[in-house]
Amino acid sequence: MEVKDRIPEMFGSMVFNEAAMAQYVPIDAMNAWRQCLKSGHALTLEVANDIAEGMKTWALSKGATHYTHWFQPMTGITAEKHDSFVTPVGGGKIMMEFSGKELVRGEPDASSFPSGGLRATFEARGYTAWDPTSFAFVKGTSLYIPTAFCSYSGEALDKKTPLLRSMECVSKEALRILRLFGDTTTKKVIPQVGPEQEYFLVDRELYEKREDLKLCGRTLFGAKPPKGQELDDHYFGAIKPRVAAFMRELDEELWKLGILSKTKHNEAAPAQHEMAPIYSDANTACDHNQLAMEIMKKVAARHNLVCLLHEKPFAGVNGSGKHDNWSLGTDTGKNLFSPGKTPRQNAQFLLFLAAFLQGVDEYQELLRCSVAFAGNDHRLGALEAPPAIVSVFLGTELEGIVDSIIHDTPYLERETGALQIGVDILPTIPLDTSDRNRTSPVAFTGNKFEFRMPGSSQSIAGPNTVLNTIMAEELGRFADILEQAEDFDTALHDVVRKAFTEHKRIIFSGNGYDDAWVMEAQGRGLANLVSAADALPAYVLPKNVELMTRHGVYTEHEMYARNEVHMEKYCHVVQIEAKTMLDMIQHGIVGAATAYSAALCDGILAKKACGISCRSEKALAETISELTDSLMEKTLELKTAVATVPSGTAEETMIYYHDVVVSRMNRLRGIVDQLETLVDSSYWPYPTYYDLLFSV
Ligand code: ADP
Ligand code: MG
Repeated sequence: MEVKDRIPEMFGSMVFNEAAMAQYVPIDAMNAWRQCLKSGHALTLEVANDIAEGMKTWALSKGATHYTHWFQPMTGITAEKHDSFVTPVGGGKIMMEFSGKELVRGEPDASSFPSGGLRATFEARGYTAWDPTSFAFVKGTSLYIPTAFCSYSGEALDKKTPLLRSMECVSKEALRILRLFGDTTTKKVIPQVGPEQEYFLVDRELYEKREDLKLCGRTLFGAKPPKGQELDDHYFGAIKPRVAAFMRELDEELWKLGILSKTKHNEAAPAQHEMAPIYSDANTACDHNQLAMEIMKKVAARHNLVCLLHEKPFAGVNGSGKHDNWSLGTDTGKNLFSPGKTPRQNAQFLLFLAAFLQGVDEYQELLRCSVAFAGNDHRLGALEAPPAIVSVFLGTELEGIVDSIIHDTPYLERETGALQIGVDILPTIPLDTSDRNRTSPVAFTGNKFEFRMPGSSQSIAGPNTVLNTIMAEELGRFADILEQAEDFDTALHDVVRKAFTEHKRIIFSGNGYDDAWVMEAQGRGLANLVSAADALPAYVLPKNVELMTRHGVYTEHEMYARNEVHMEKYCHVVQIEAKTMLDMIQHGIVGAATAYSAALCDGILAKKACGISCRSEKALAETISELTDSLMEKTLELKTAVATVPSGTAEETMIYYHDVVVSRMNRLRGIVDQLETLVDSSYWPYPTYYDLLFSV
């Protein structure tokens, strides 16, 4: 079959999408399902039975023997437990069965997932509930059913439930605004998300030799190679055959699952690449991103490669992020962040922009928290990654408009020099105002915002839950005022102007990597939560708890539980890294350093016997011995730090890990990296950065 036919036929072939449903599910059940999506009401058991039957028949035709409720616990990855369709029918015979009950509700024995204390042991099981807005699919020999994961008392134990709740609440508040602008047709506003996924590919055999990569997903040591990304020759460079083969297969696997993989290219660092899908609704985007990460790893293995999704696999080299492109779209196909052509459309655009700026400014700590975890600490604020200070880049044109509104001065369009303030109080907006500023954590890029702080390994559910909810909050507040206004246009102008004036400090177009920005941001009163340990306590600031509970996205209980989970996870990650580091030093690095200096000494003795000068060997052996001494000393310090963690609250423990353990790890690393440059490579027990980054 030709490619032009093969790919469209392959696309979505493993997904029980509407087309497949129409083929396998009776029309009445289909209609009831569509109705339930609209109303948000539960399906009757009868309809669920019909859908389950169709789903099973379809899944069997795709080679499935099992089904699984697929869910996204607070670990940030996905979980699954497979049951076969096999049902005994007596006489030693079986049938392949799947009921509506099994489709809509599951009870995985999930007591080992983190719950932050939300689940008492007597109700440890929790249950999964089908998310009918996300299509089921077949992967391997199982039918995957996307589900939400809750405790028996209905508290969310997963990442999907709050995301779905936040999508509801932003839709509700945005509709109030649209109605004020005379839009009577839109029924739903849907957050649209396109996550760009960065990753590294390394050779499997080299990977196997690095305990740190295997246990921690990142290297804990490694001196910088002589060549990194200085020449910018990798970014968008020609894709090497082995990588190209990987990418081709990845695309096909993603397409089969209905994932709109669109762009692939080399990234800035050697061995770094990116895959971007076409955007979709936030819930689907989140499911698809989880699948994409998993499939990247699987496909890499088939090519004898390993896909590294960690935010910072290699120090001193670009880290990996997951740029979260976010906008609001209507069910009628309009993008609410598209500057319009008429003054009316522009006024609406400016109102949405004002809400966004106000939300990001007021809830900057919460947004920062949504990307705060141990892995991202190595990336935010480093080389090419956005700083830990939240700010918004608008581009010169849009910033000019914001300024003109704040000061009630006419906006001078740069190109034409024409005055554009006119009839409708608010100016018209030139199209495509998107400049590029790679250093900005949040950038307006023409008709969407690009949130660049999320890390490559993390679920996008959290960041999008926050974006949706802050937007709902501000739109709701604006609607409260505008619905009561006697003169809508004046009130609109005032609302927009007030928001721009009060929240202008969040707009920043300069170089975010510059040290001067840190000072300036401080002057503006912006939060600079440098590490996850600085950021996470802010998650439960009263204003954040009030925001989330007001919109029904989290209960107070859920927020505290989540905070606990995040802080505990931070400690676990650091602890594992510290222990891995100790292990590698004691079982690999000390031996290499001492063996090499012993060999040097043997050489020195031999040379001396012949009366040959051996000054350089002596100096080298001495330096290595001194470094080894301080290595031993610092190793002991780290060992003690890990062995004597003081008891305290989750927050105190996290701060201890950050202040004491991480800083001792950094000191140790410095010594090891120095040793690596001195010890002969035949003695060094681990593949180096040069080996890892330039081997594929
Ligand atoms: P870049 O230059 O940053 O790579 P692209 O135009 O390629 O920008 O888009 C990057 C991502 O943004 C893609 O996943 C794309 O589908 C997504 N995207 C484009 N438009 C929107 C939108 N209106 N809302 C959300 N995501 C979008
Ligand atoms: Mg981008």
